[in-house]
Amino acid sequence: MPHRYKTVLLFGAPGAGKGTQGKILGKIPGFFHLACGDVFRSLDMTSELGKQFLQYSSRGELVPDELTIEMWSQNMHAQTVLSLYKPKEDLLVLDGIPRNVAQAKALEKYINVLKVIHLVCPDEDAMVHRMRRRALKENRIDDADEKVIRRRFEVYRLETQPVLDHYPKALITEVSAIGSPAAVLQHVLEVVVPVQDSHFRNPL
Ligand code: ADP
Repeated sequence: MPHRYKTVLLFGAPGAGKGTQGKILGKIPGFFHLACGDVFRSLDMTSELGKQFLQYSSRGELVPDELTIEMWSQNMHAQTVLSLYKPKEDLLVLDGIPRNVAQAKALEKYINVLKVIHLVCPDEDAMVHRMRRRALKENRIDDADEKVIRRRFEVYRLETQPVLDHYPKALITEVSAIGSPAAVLQHVLEVVVPVQDSHFRNPL
């Protein structure tokens, strides 16, 4: 399948900092970042899809796979049509998808996973703390409630973590999620820059 998007996955528990790292990477020429949660949050919440998203996310549950993959693939297509994402030039950085093994399988026809960066934070309380701070700042109802946050961790453990076994071990690199965004970024770059160098001509 020659036309699959060359992709790096940002992987980790809720609050591990995937979005923070992804957003910074997305500002670097030659990288395109897409966060599945951001795409969901940008929906019109009075639309059918928007309502479904609210219904699941407010409980800390995953949106059903078919809906998620459909929305994701349409969004990716739109980004390429608008030339915001240029598959021949840009390394795609995905965060928040795949969230379970079924999604990982469904994505196979679209993406060629060159690397999985697993942001590791052994301290769940530290992540909960980050998420509550973010909830206050970004007005996120899913992270304002401790019960919902704990449910999100449970869903992560049960459904998302097994995704790591879906990819060859050699593709997965663990990066500590502890430290300042800049410190974590330094380690993330050590992993992704060689991937970009070996698969793309360097952007000017
Ligand atoms: P975070 O960045 O805090 O880990 P996200 O913004 O990625 O969280 O996700 C927020 C919510 O959006 C999830 O709890 C879930 O309801 C929904 N969601 C995001 N991505 C997916 C996905 N790939 N599959 C199903 N639901 C998703």
